[in-house]
Amino acid sequence: MNLQWYPGHMAKAKRMMQENIKLVDVIIELVDARIPLSSKNPDIDSLAGNKSRVILLNKYDMADMRYTNAWKAYFETKGYYVTLVNSRNGNGVKQVKDVVNKACEAKIERDRKRGILNRPVRAMVVGIPNVGKSTFINSFVGKATAKTGNKPGVTKGKQWIRLNKNIELLDTPGILWPKFEDQAVGLRLAMIGSINDNIINTTELACELILFLSNYYKDSLKDRYGLETLEVLENLESAEHVLKQIAIKRASLLKGGEPDIDKAANYVIDDFRNVRLGNITLEFPESLEELKE
Ligand code: GDP
Repeated sequence: MNLQWYPGHMAKAKRMMQENIKLVDVIIELVDARIPLSSKNPDIDSLAGNKSRVILLNKYDMADMRYTNAWKAYFETKGYYVTLVNSRNGNGVKQVKDVVNKACEAKIERDRKRGILNRPVRAMVVGIPNVGKSTFINSFVGKATAKTGNKPGVTKGKQWIRLNKNIELLDTPGILWPKFEDQAVGLRLAMIGSINDNIINTTELACELILFLSNYYKDSLKDRYGLETLEVLENLESAEHVLKQIAIKRASLLKGGEPDIDKAANYVIDDFRNVRLGNITLEFPESLEELKE
């Protein structure tokens, strides 16, 4: 995955989004449950206007359930309809239809009062690259691949997938960029692997991750690498020291016998991304910031 956004790209994505949003009743926004805020597009709220909003906390299978529930509550207080989804194995996907219907209840009621019955609600999926949009759409649509084709008033070429008698889904998701000008956001996106590894120094990234883990998931780190002791770390230097210990534990040594910290860094990042350090959430709702293990 490569995040290659440049102004032309962004302007086009935004234009398409504005066009498509006009056509739908509800926006289904995917965020990564491990970084629900950092994986959210900064402009979507203003683009969405007053459309109904659903947030899917996708990849919840990789995140820490304690915080995923807190995030769900957080977004609900902001007026979103929220549910947890594992698009890869389909867990939670069935419930999305109910959540979409709930989010559109007011609209369905308005239609009914105006004598419009059984008009399906229209939905579109949006999210940043790699958040799981295609995987979710495939799982959500399942066998209901009957496309309804072009309709009057619908921009030519757009396809609607009829999910059931109540819901139609735009077949292509809206792709939007993350808040990548914020360095902390960039770091979290890099940790989960949403930014090309070539543009980021893996050893530095691993040190940042270790620093975070020592504060919030100390035991996971300690147990995984058989570290005898582990302090709550305060800076990247001490994190690099832990990386050294990990290299020694793993017998990753350079020719001269020095610990190979770059190799250890790769282990740590790879272990994190493959959930071998356990279920980890990298950011918390403000109210939980102070919670530490
Ligand atoms: P898109 O760029 O937003 O369309 O993202 P993709 O659908 O291509 O998904 C990106 C990666 O995330 C793929 O490797 C998917 O298999 C994986 N993925 C998507 N949803 C989930 C999920 O809920 N859980 C897990 N573990 N992996 C997922």
